[in-house]
Amino acid sequence: MAQESISKIGIIGGGPAGCFCAYFLQNTCDVTVFDYGSPLRTLLVTGGGRCNLAHAEFDFRELAKNYPRGEKFLYSVFSKFSTADTLKFFNNIGVETYIQEDMRIFPVSNSAKDVREKFLYSLNKTKFKKERALRIEQNPLRIITDCSSHKFDKIIIAAGGHSGYDCAKFLGHTIVEPKPALTALKTKENLKNLAGVSIKNVRCSGFRDDILFTHEGISGPLIYKISSVKARDSFPYKLELDLCDEFDLQDLLNKNPHKTIKNLLSEFIPKSFAEYILENPDTKCHQINGKTRDEILNKIHNFTLTITAPAKGGEVVTSGGVDLKEINPKTMESRIVNGVYFCGEVMDIDGFCGGFNLQNCWSTAYIASHAIL
Ligand SMILES: Cc1cc2nc3c(=O)[nH]c(=O)nc-3n(C[C@H](O)[C@H](O)[C@H](O)COP(=O)(O)OP(=O)(O)OC[C@H]3O[C@@H](n4cnc5c(N)ncnc54)[C@H](O)[C@@H]3O)c2cc1C
Repeated sequence: MAQESISKIGIIGGGPAGCFCAYFLQNTCDVTVFDYGSPLRTLLVTGGGRCNLAHAEFDFRELAKNYPRGEKFLYSVFSKFSTADTLKFFNNIGVETYIQEDMRIFPVSNSAKDVREKFLYSLNKTKFKKERALRIEQNPLRIITDCSSHKFDKIIIAAGGHSGYDCAKFLGHTIVEPKPALTALKTKENLKNLAGVSIKNVRCSGFRDDILFTHEGISGPLIYKISSVKARDSFPYKLELDLCDEFDLQDLLNKNPHKTIKNLLSEFIPKSFAEYILENPDTKCHQINGKTRDEILNKIHNFTLTITAPAKGGEVVTSGGVDLKEINPKTMESRIVNGVYFCGEVMDIDGFCGGFNLQNCWSTAYIASHAIL
């Protein structure tokens, strides 16, 4: 009796996306993962070592809104594999999860190391090769690495957003220029004296969240979002921040004539920030005239900064990668080369902070592996 041959699958990249594919394929296919580093090491730094593995948004359309690049592409992906499926998967491999107040989902152990160990343990039928894939050849499909050459029936490129574009480029794929997103930002203005000061509920570009001044500029959840939305803009660009809700300053000046203006404002903004924006912080309230009042309000509600470059800090994901027009969202298969699939950050998809980037890995990896199955 003729034996059905087992499909040979090569996966380039042993990050969250590549390993998620391997998990679903390893029982029915002969799976080899190529990574020049140790598998799933990129998971260790996630969520500040706690691994924010998903976000508690269970409506797939709402979930997709958290991706400045990839929203439409992800509709059909998330309609098939979304947050609830992610949690089920992690439960199956022994990782219990909980939802934090801000809807981010973490393992109960609060340990990315624990998630990595359990995930790796579940990959007992997957072969790992510590090799760097250099290119993919066609007819037949073949991965050429820095030390060998391997023939496969299908190949998945899950090489991430930092250095993993060569194989896709070699096959003729377009790479949308990679730019850093979810970063802190450097400013032209010298904000060193404010380093460490944070302000809650600041508004900018339609978002509202917290900011933190740093030695180089600004950081914090609001800034990560903005760095993401503006990832493709060229530097320098201006940001206008509204630092607190509207309040009747004239009324307060009238009611507190002997208070210093810095003490009055410190009810709304940090005192050190009040000192930064005020020319004479110790002026008494009754000495503030209409023009100065308006100038103060303008600095608070339209605090303008010139952004010069990304800075260190944040998750730092890549905006850019393999052009989505060249990938079928129903299968993750290349529209250019049959039998080659993509998943994870190597594609031109990136989300906000909060578990969205890993969710992209889980969902696209699920689609790629099940299209192959
Ligand atoms: C500090 C930090 C914290 C983060 N925290 C979170 C978080 O809490 N939640 C969240 O959702 N997202 C988070 N992210 C983003 C998330 O980690 C990434 O989106 C995710 O790791 C992407 O997974 P991936 O498998 O696509 O790529 P990667 O994780 O980059 O993995 C790709 C793998 O491919 C390998 N590789 C690349 N090229 C080759 C080649 N030619 N040959 C062989 N191997 C190759 C690399 O060695 C790597 O192991 C964080 C990112 C950072 C930097």
